[in-house]
Parts: sequence; structure tokens; C-alpha cells
Amino acid sequence: MNHDTAVSSAKDIADRVLAPAARQNDKEGRFSAEAVAALGQAGLLGLMLPGEVGGSGLGPRSFAAVMATLAEADASVAMVYLMHACASATIAAARPGAAVAPALKEIAAGRHLSTLAFSEAGSRSHFWAPISRARRNAAGVHLTARKSWVTSAGQAQSYVVSSLAPEGQDPTQSTLYLVPADAPGLTVAGPWDGLGLRANASAPMALEDCTVAPEHQLTEDGAGFQAMLQVVLPLFNLGSAAVALGLCRATVSGTTNHLKTARFEHLGQSLGESLPTLRAQLAAMQIETAGLAARIDGVVDHLERPRDDTMLRVLECKAAAGDAAISVTSTAMRVCGGAAFSKHMSIERLFRDAHAGAVMAPTGDVLREFIAKALLGMPLF
Ligand SMILES: Cc1cc2nc3c(=O)[nH]c(=O)nc-3n(C[C@H](O)[C@H](O)[C@H](O)COP(=O)(O)OP(=O)(O)OC[C@H]3O[C@@H](n4cnc5c(N)ncnc54)[C@H](O)[C@@H]3O)c2cc1C
Repeated sequence: MNHDTAVSSAKDIADRVLAPAARQNDKEGRFSAEAVAALGQAGLLGLMLPGEVGGSGLGPRSFAAVMATLAEADASVAMVYLMHACASATIAAARPGAAVAPALKEIAAGRHLSTLAFSEAGSRSHFWAPISRARRNAAGVHLTARKSWVTSAGQAQSYVVSSLAPEGQDPTQSTLYLVPADAPGLTVAGPWDGLGLRANASAPMALEDCTVAPEHQLTEDGAGFQAMLQVVLPLFNLGSAAVALGLCRATVSGTTNHLKTARFEHLGQSLGESLPTLRAQLAAMQIETAGLAARIDGVVDHLERPRDDTMLRVLECKAAAGDAAISVTSTAMRVCGGAAFSKHMSIERLFRDAHAGAVMAPTGDVLREFIAKALLGMPLF
């Protein structure tokens, strides 16, 4: 698979599988197993995995394009794919000696969905500081934790779980583990009934004395934090920005269509023909969307050729994207009036989905904190 075939496969799945079902899945809060199966069959679950395990070895440019394409049709599915991509990359970057080849081959073959279980009820959005602490004995490591939100909870074949290392001294000395879905003691601990991203099963999960074999320890003890920052953060922030871009594009196109087709019959004009204020707001939405696309291109370029300021660009892109998605979808709610408010259109779903980006960790507020601290030369954590 190359970049073009990856993006055209994503577009085909978006048109054929995601778009027709998005409204109903959102309404019912239903996880789309069909979408995951289609992504697997198309080889997209192994998009960035190396060729040795059967992956396509593609990079951030293809990943961002695939993400935005999926999100334009259904942001819930795109978020499932994003968490999977981050988890897969973490598994692929596992420490020497970890037995991850079987999982990676299954992922590349399209039969294995993974996800991240970082956030804990105790440390909330501060995912880098798990409250739970792993315990070690002869059988391996035992995990007991309350994970507050896990996208694809109960649907994934494996979970990349963080916990404080057995001898960890400070809150960031975590370790990452690969926990198979059938591990005894791992359960979905509640329902998922969110404002937005309703169709991605982001339910809480509990680990109760869950044993992890030594070969499923993904990082050295205490090195989970580095993996979160170096492997997960760039991909997660880029992917979140691409989800926001997909939402913005869908919003601009839905709004454009509405302004062309909804009419003031007594005036003999469409809304767009009739009202310059609506045209100005549509233009503002388009400008923000195009600006976000350019920002994402810039971050992709940074990730392909890292420079001194790459991490700053990575932090900025998710914060800016979250704001853009909220702004563009909020404007569309006004521009499309009662038609949007009363759910005649999908704009209100896009508006609800857009609000998840800013509260998913690292949250927009936390990113702004990090950015300012970096500028001021202060320690980030
Ligand atoms: C749809 C969805 C899917 C998710 N999927 C996953 C998943 O797959 N895996 C996973 O691990 N987690 C997941 N999460 C959890 C997510 O990453 C966050 O941990 C969670 O949304 C934080 O919510 P909270 O109420 O705990 O936030 P809180 O930590 O209580 O934050 C409340 C407010 O305080 C602000 N705040 C917090 N700290 C600071 C600070 N230092 N400086 C400035 N402001 C601050 C926040 O920005 C926020 O506005 C998901 C969340 C959602 C909504």
C-alpha cells in the first residue's frame, strides 16, 4: 500500500461504511464493528507498522490524511482508529525482549484492534501520572487500576495500559504493558453515554489484580513516560488535529450545501444568495479550516524532518485544532439556524463531536500551559 492507495481506501470506507451509518450509530451510541472490519480488510490497521510484520510502513503524512478522511464521515470511528494507531506504534516500539510480534502480525493482518488505557480516575486528565502501581511477583506483574475512559472499551483485542512502576519514585515513573482483552481481571466498568463521539465505546475500565506476563511489559520500568512523550504524543496530537480537520471540512461542506439549497421562497433566493452575513460567516469557517490544514501539513513536515522546535509545533497543533473545530462548528450552528438545532442536518453531531478534542488529554488548557512554560524556559512537568 502506498500513500495514494491508503487515502483512497479510507475514502471508499468513509463513503461506503461510515457515512451511511454515522447518524444512527451516534443516536444509539453504537460502536461500529463493521467500520473496524473494513479498516482491517483494507490493511489500514497496519498503516504505519513495519513491513517485517506485514505493515505498510507509511508515515505521519499518510496517517494524517487517512484520519481526516475518516473523521469527515464519522469522528467516532476516526477516534477509534487514532487510539489504535497510537497503541500500535507503542507496541511496535516495545523494549527488546518483549514478545510483541504475534500482536503486531495480527494488527497488520487486520484482525486486531488495540487502544490506550492511560487516564485514571485519580489523576484525571494528567495521564502522565498514573495513581495505580504495578506489583511484581514470580508470575509477572499484577495491575489494579481504575481507567476512567478507554476508547474501544470491550471492543479491542488488546489494551496498552499504564501504571506506576513497582519501584517508581515519582508520579511520572510509569511502565506500559500490553494487556490482552481476555486477561482475567480486566472488565468494562460502566457505560459510555457521551455528549459527542458517542459511537466509540469510550467507557471506563477496571483492572483487578490482572496478571501481565513479563514478555508483555512494553517499556523498561519507569520508562512509560518517555514512550508517552516520544511515541504517543506526536501521533496523538497530529491525529487529533486531523480529526478536527475532518470535522471542519464536513461542517463547511454541510453548511455550504444548506446555504445553497435552503430557500426564502417569498424572496426567490437561497439563504446564501440572500444574506451577506451568512456568506461572511461561511468564509470565516473556510479560512479557519484551510489554516488548520496548513498547520497540519507543517507538523507532518516537522515529524518527517524533526527540528529543535518540532515539539512546540506538536503541542500547538492539538490546541489550535481543538479551538478551530469548536469555532467552526459553533459558527455553523448559528449559520444553519433551526435546521441545525433541530437535528435536520448532521451539523449538531459535528458540533458535539468537536467538543471532545479540547478535553481529551493533553487537554487544550494543559497544552497552553506547556507551550507557555516552554517559551518561558520553565520545566513542563
Ligand atoms: C470521548 C473521550 C475518549 C477518551 N478516550 C480515552 C482513551 O482511549 N484513553 C485514555 O487514556 N483516556 C481517554 N479519554 C480521557 C481523556 O484523555 C481525559 O483524561 C479526560 O477527558 C479528562 O477529563 P477529566 O474530567 O478527568 O478532566 P480534569 O483533569 O478534571 O480537567 C478539568 C479541567 O481542568 C483543566 N486542567 C486540568 N489540568 C490542568 C492544568 N495543569 N492546567 C490548566 N488546566 C488544567 C482541563 O483542561 C479541564 O478543562 C477520553 C476522553 C473522552 C472525552
